[in-house]
Amino acid sequence: MKTGIIGLGAMGAGMARNLARQGLLAAVWNRTAATAEQLATRLDVTVAADPASLALRCDVVVTCVSRDADVLEVIRALIPGLRPGTVVVDCSTIAVETAQSAAGLVADAGGTFLDAPVSGGREGAEAGQLVFMVGGDHEVIDRLQPVFDAMGKQVTAMGPVGSGQATKAVNQIMAAGINQAVTEALAFGQAAGLDMAKVIEVVGGGAAGNWFLQKRGASMVDGVFEPGFKLALHHKDLSICKQMLAELGVALPIVEMTLKHYERLIEAGYGEEDISALFRAKRELFTRGNIKSL
Ligand code: NAP
Repeated sequence: MKTGIIGLGAMGAGMARNLARQGLLAAVWNRTAATAEQLATRLDVTVAADPASLALRCDVVVTCVSRDADVLEVIRALIPGLRPGTVVVDCSTIAVETAQSAAGLVADAGGTFLDAPVSGGREGAEAGQLVFMVGGDHEVIDRLQPVFDAMGKQVTAMGPVGSGQATKAVNQIMAAGINQAVTEALAFGQAAGLDMAKVIEVVGGGAAGNWFLQKRGASMVDGVFEPGFKLALHHKDLSICKQMLAELGVALPIVEMTLKHYERLIEAGYGEEDISALFRAKRELFTRGNIKSL
């Protein structure tokens, strides 16, 4: 199954490497050409001239770009190269309606679209340990099992197109709560003068242990916030969740609070840092001793 990938950022680069390891990667394309050329040289694969040329040489096209408008832009750009039966698998996190629009564009060109957002972070992408929550035709998902297996450890068919993104919204609300809890608790531990390496080890081994604490705890207490998962992208996801919640007539406290905190951090210039940069704001609470400011 010849597979191409569009978008070689924190997630896409690792996904491309794992597709190449399984002999499935036929071509790559990235908006910033130098990124594609460097990776393609290492993986010994072709850099397509544009998304349509990539689609022309592939049975499966995986897209992993930033936002809703970016997904629609690359889908429109690849459509001239789409052959009947080509499957487009979008792993970006976007709104349900955007996934449905993308599916319509691909179907009109004779292809099939799956919305397949992922969880597992940059580390999961690099290790081929992603979890896929997929919306779209069951049989197509089954047929693409080797592609999903190359990049991940779990693939779950959630229902029609859009249901993958709806599931991802659940994941992103939970991730916001975990970020709030971990950054706040570790800022407290640091202010209390504890040995934070020991705190992270012992707390991580107990019932409060979690992926985020394990992967980002040590770096955040050291003041290092390299992405990872960019804070501005999680803000984008929570804005999607807020819209979905508004349609249900609900505003959830964790979503509202985290959006507000992220907006302050983005204004202060930290949007391109990892979401663990929320620790900056929590740490500040203890230096200023003013809990009302958050
Ligand atoms: P990233 O590191 O910022 O990379 C974004 C990629 O999208 C880059 O390759 C970028 O190209 C490309 N891109 C953006 N806009 C584009 C456009 N208009 N046309 C063509 N290419 C475009 O982001 P990421 O962390 O890999 O995230 C990608 C997606 O996965 C996002 O939707 C994110 O929410 C989701 N996600 C991320 C994580 C995570 O932990 N990082 C986990 C799960 C899901 P350039 O190189 O030219 O900028």
